[in-house]
Amino acid sequence: MCIKLNGDDFTTIHHELGHNYYLPAYNKYSYLHEAIGDAIAVAITPEYPGQIGLVDADKMPSADKDIGLLLRQAMD
Ligand SMILES: [Zn+2]
Repeated sequence: MCIKLNGDDFTTIHHELGHNYYLPAYNKYSYLHEAIGDAIAVAITPEYPGQIGLVDADKMPSADKDIGLLLRQAMD
């Protein structure tokens, strides 16, 4: 995958790595394939980029700015 440094590709990477990482556990149940990827992708919390050092902790938006992210996840 050719990735760009943006939120969409950050989510896609987690989706794809969710497939790769958990495949040995669910490979007998192929119908779970996309569900596993999506479960990992939606597990990205607003705090996660700060926790892994992508965003400075003092530049993290406050929790009242989470509505846009939460609405997008709900629509996805
Ligand atoms: Zn997938």
